[in-house]
Amino acid sequence: MRYLLTAFAAVVLAALGSVSQVAAFGLIRDTEIEATLDRIANPIFRAAGLHPATVNIYIVNSSDINAFVAGGQNIFLFTGLLTRLQTVDQLRAVISHEVGHITGGHITRRNDALGGARGIAIVGMVGAAVAAIGGSPEAGAAIAFGSSAAAQRNALAHSRAEEASADQSGLRYIAAAGGNPAAMLEVLRMLRGQDMQRTVGVDPYAQTHPLSTERMALIEDKVASLPSGRPVDAEDTYWHARMVAKLTGFLARTRSVVQKYPPDDQSEPAILARAVAYHRQPDPQKSLALVNHLIELKPDDPYYHELKGQFLLESGDAVHAVASYQKAVDLAPFEPQILGGLGRALLNTNDPALTEKAREALAGSTRYDKANTGVLRDLALAEARLGNDGAAALATAERFVIEGQFSDAQRNAQRASILLPRGSPGWQRAQDVLAMVRRTQGSSR
Ligand SMILES: [Zn+2]
Repeated sequence: MRYLLTAFAAVVLAALGSVSQVAAFGLIRDTEIEATLDRIANPIFRAAGLHPATVNIYIVNSSDINAFVAGGQNIFLFTGLLTRLQTVDQLRAVISHEVGHITGGHITRRNDALGGARGIAIVGMVGAAVAAIGGSPEAGAAIAFGSSAAAQRNALAHSRAEEASADQSGLRYIAAAGGNPAAMLEVLRMLRGQDMQRTVGVDPYAQTHPLSTERMALIEDKVASLPSGRPVDAEDTYWHARMVAKLTGFLARTRSVVQKYPPDDQSEPAILARAVAYHRQPDPQKSLALVNHLIELKPDDPYYHELKGQFLLESGDAVHAVASYQKAVDLAPFEPQILGGLGRALLNTNDPALTEKAREALAGSTRYDKANTGVLRDLALAEARLGNDGAAALATAERFVIEGQFSDAQRNAQRASILLPRGSPGWQRAQDVLAMVRRTQGSSR
């Protein structure tokens, strides 16, 4: 999984209290996929009266077919679900149901009732900590689950009344956004089939969102009363297909990738999926040939240049990776993960003349996304190489906050406070970290 971890800068998930009791799931970060999810979800958020910037979508790296909301307006979509949903309308149906839980206020009440299931409370706490430091609504959150995943699913499970209410609201949002409400039935029928096929264990989605015959009947009634929507925008379908292909390329075994996207399939998503799969193998010759083909087809696509930069960097060719990431940054100057990739590639050239440029790219990345632990780690490295020990300590303190390692955060923030000029913006941020750690210590008892 090395490639995945470096590819998608996985957010390490954090826990308060006894770490040994907490099994963490990884969250996946990917600029292109996040942009696609925004494109698909935003019409639903708007239809529900939610400002898109106030809702966070997180991609959970798990083959479980699941989705849930937690810690306020945070929607968690599992890769197992994302790669199985076949249409934009189906994905919108899942998202709209989760939004129905948010607008129904089901989360707030549920959190109060959680009691011993403290893992979920951490979502809000770490999210708030990051927001306190970042001051950004897009700032990351973290999730941590108790040692028993099943116990956690029970804690997340909604009542039948909440399910029915989320369905009804969700269907209204789909219709208001011009989508096809019948897609919700398609999804539930598909998940039911999945449930029946399982011989061992339980279906996670059915546990968090109990399915029942009455529930299906209520949805059928509502769907019959709503218009069937407009055809899905071709651009949305295109980006959705790319998302599924990219996730499949990164997550499935090469054999399954090539089965689903055989070499004679010359569509863009198929080439993309195979490029990623060969990169993971690793087969740099094949993966580079395929990504170059994608760039020929779409020379102005920043994500293809970013992907090529990633392939090169992970194959040890930092110098050429810099050129690809630079091209991606030229095409998309405000994408924090692409800036982070450029910074990492520049650092990996180990050319002292490029360290300042690396620092600039990484600091630029943190201006737009303050919660990327990989970028904060690289920024600390760049600052240290430049002899800026105070700034390095600050970046390390901020990284530890996101990882939930509050005593390490405190230690580094204290060091930054001593090294940075009193009253400077960096010094001020170190004070913010210290104040936040004190609040967290107060609230965890
Ligand atoms: Zn539900």
